[in-house]
Amino acid sequence: MNKAESERLSSFLEQLDYQPTATVEEANLVVLNSCVVRQSAENRVIGKLHTLKSLKRSRPDLTLAVTGCLVNSDLQALRDRFPYVDYFFKPGEAPQWLAEQDQPPRVLPDKPSPSTFVPIAQGCNNSCSYCIVPHRRGREKSRPVTEILGEVEELARRGAKEVTLLGQNVDSYGHDLPASPDLADLLGELNAVDGIARIRFLTNHPKDMSLKLIEAIARLDKVCEQISLPVQSGDNDILRAMRRGYAVEHYHQLVLKMRSQIPEIALSTDVIVGFPSESESQFQRTLKLLRELRFDTVHVAAYSPRAGTFAAREYEDNIPSDEKKRRLHIVEQLQEKIATEINAELLGRVVEVLVEGSKKGKWQGRTRGGKLVFFGSNCDYLGQLVKVRIEKTSPWSLQGRVEDISATEIRRGKWEEIKL
Ligand code: SF4
Repeated sequence: MNKAESERLSSFLEQLDYQPTATVEEANLVVLNSCVVRQSAENRVIGKLHTLKSLKRSRPDLTLAVTGCLVNSDLQALRDRFPYVDYFFKPGEAPQWLAEQDQPPRVLPDKPSPSTFVPIAQGCNNSCSYCIVPHRRGREKSRPVTEILGEVEELARRGAKEVTLLGQNVDSYGHDLPASPDLADLLGELNAVDGIARIRFLTNHPKDMSLKLIEAIARLDKVCEQISLPVQSGDNDILRAMRRGYAVEHYHQLVLKMRSQIPEIALSTDVIVGFPSESESQFQRTLKLLRELRFDTVHVAAYSPRAGTFAAREYEDNIPSDEKKRRLHIVEQLQEKIATEINAELLGRVVEVLVEGSKKGKWQGRTRGGKLVFFGSNCDYLGQLVKVRIEKTSPWSLQGRVEDISATEIRRGKWEEIKL
């Protein structure tokens, strides 16, 4: 979400004839888009603000603005704490802020990247005990279907091939709109947009994900077989303490349902280790779940209390830091082994890659399942869907060469990975 907002903000500014500078010292305007989802991220933002303070002192003409989650409801407190910052504006309020500067806000970049983000809702109505997001981003607010559809049509017209719909909890999208459309309805509308080849979305919530959505993913040809479904823990007592609103058994059933209806689904999840009072056996239950469900990707974080959350107030952060690190490392090692095995199955196969850019002389892009692929070629493939035969795999990425199979292309349903 933070990255999507930064991209939008740079587009606004470029359309107002601002140019990016190589260093912060050369800039006339610096906008800091803060993420405070973890304490360490918030500390980095504060550190950056202190550095900018001396720059502002030596260059009083510099305009300094701060947005993102740091800008919560108590604006006065922020102004008192950082008096040298010229503007604070809330996430998603860049158009209003620019309008206040007498600049006409325009929303979309002239030439979006082939793969671009589209926020569909802001805020979150859940109350996970460890999470600061609802406190900073407020109640959930969905964007109307027609507004999102218009934006995606316009992005397609300007060259985007793939859109990733963003929300803190995409499964509750639309409940606050007239006629209560849901994510499956929205995907149905977007699937018909000419020029868009792929649609993704994140993040899902196991408590709210519906069977209707699973059916929509299976049915709609442009919706990619990739789901991000954070489980956080494999232990029901920990899940209760986290106030996640589901049990491990429910999570298992959801995954089984998805895999039966969409066999090629790529699944990623998030896990927190070292939550207050997490015992060794509770941690082992998380490992068991990871071994059983075999995710393509696991994002693991060690618990750290966030001031203002229920967990920080009510629970003692009683797992020593070394123990958290040990658990984190065990999850990482387990996942590395699982991802190695899953990705090795793609060796020798041909995958469809949307080329998003290049790195160190190689083109890079992603499969429909979201796997990162590198391949070499002198042709210009930027923004194209290319068939690539996989020649090397690792837990993190795949490498291959362009395969010309258009004449013999076999399509089995919508899945385009072909064993030759
Ligand atoms: S669903 Fe939970 S973890 Fe996710 S943003 Fe909302 S409160 Fe935070």
